[in-house]
Amino acid sequence: MSRRIIPVADLSTAPVIAGPTQTPSGVLHDALARPLRDLRISVTDRCNFRCVYCMPRAVFDKDYAFLPHSALLSFEEIERLAQLFVAHGVEKIRLTGGEPLLRKNLEFLIDRLARLTTPAGRPLDLTLTTNGSLLARKARSLKDAGLTRVTVSLDALDDALIRRMNDADFAVADVLDGIAAAHAVGLAPLKVNMVVKRGTNDGEIVAMARHFKGTGAVLRFIEYMDVGTSNGWNMTEVLPSAEVVSRIAEHFPLVPLEAHSAAETAQRWGYVDGGGEIGVISSVTRAFCGACTRARLSTEGKLYLCLFASTGHDLRALLRGAASDAEIATAIAEIWQGRSDRYSQLRGSQPADPGEPGGRRVEMSYIGG
Ligand code: SAM
Ligand code: SF4
Ligand code: SF4
Repeated sequence: MSRRIIPVADLSTAPVIAGPTQTPSGVLHDALARPLRDLRISVTDRCNFRCVYCMPRAVFDKDYAFLPHSALLSFEEIERLAQLFVAHGVEKIRLTGGEPLLRKNLEFLIDRLARLTTPAGRPLDLTLTTNGSLLARKARSLKDAGLTRVTVSLDALDDALIRRMNDADFAVADVLDGIAAAHAVGLAPLKVNMVVKRGTNDGEIVAMARHFKGTGAVLRFIEYMDVGTSNGWNMTEVLPSAEVVSRIAEHFPLVPLEAHSAAETAQRWGYVDGGGEIGVISSVTRAFCGACTRARLSTEGKLYLCLFASTGHDLRALLRGAASDAEIATAIAEIWQGRSDRYSQLRGSQPADPGEPGGRRVEMSYIGG
């Protein structure tokens, strides 16, 4: 029997527009005065990996019912929503998933999004997060379509360990080839994300730092998070970023660097010898909700205001219900203005999305990382 975790828990309905029309002005603040600046768009809920911390095979097995194609937002629908989000102040769009490179003809979508400009006339920062398995094949066409840069996820250099972690028998060499291809075509600055699980891959921290030091790629260490409900998260498996930094500094001295912007998720550290920089994303031990400017659009067009939310706002219902641009822009404005999510700050003191009794957090593969 096929199973899906998400919709059972997702009690969302199409947004009801309550107030007067709100014409986008390029700035939209939420209830905690945080502007809307970033949009993460999940283009598929499917993936060719089964990373143990994200899509454990025991849950995402052959009986798991992924979304049917008709449920996915089309490229036209994504472009239309993206235009409205940009008019409201979004400057950066990240395509994600699931594995975004599995979405057929993704280059067509990138080509459309790359033509959007901010109200001030600037091009968007258009990027993508990928597991890298198809990147060697696709780097050139992604760049030609207008992608600015990529983030590649890689949790270890040890081949046996990486195969265990992705649980799909993909070799580390495939991902490294993808990174090299992205470099070669100028998808830069390239970032590499390593999720650190204490007791699983923390022994790879220094080797990863050594490998990417001096290459121009920025390696970022992400604390293992309690996203979704299927990965069996436990605090004992979180290695605090402070420890990551001190382990690296024992081998390669580091100095703290200024943030590029207040909304930056990673804290930056530079190699004293000029070998580039690393970043640490401390979602568990040092929450950054106060500067969170990110909205997330799920594969089927639901707007989520937090990575740890259990409910989304059904923008697809508006798109397919013949709502006008002005109506959809107003709905987006009302939803963002009502946002007070700050799950990581409150972690431990209350469950996710307290407004929805019994609600379950959406899975990261559905909402996009
Ligand atoms: N499939 C693509 C990939 O792996 O890069 C994009 C989607 S993935 C959900 C986005 C990012 O979320 C990846 O860098 C992944 O490592 C990270 N991620 C997934 N589950 C996580 C967890 N439980 N804690 C921290 N990061 C996680
Ligand atoms: Fe797939 Fe990315 Fe999740 Fe790994 S982290 S299972 S590659 S979506
Ligand atoms: Fe943003 Fe939610 Fe993460 Fe806080 S927990 S930084 S509000 S996505």
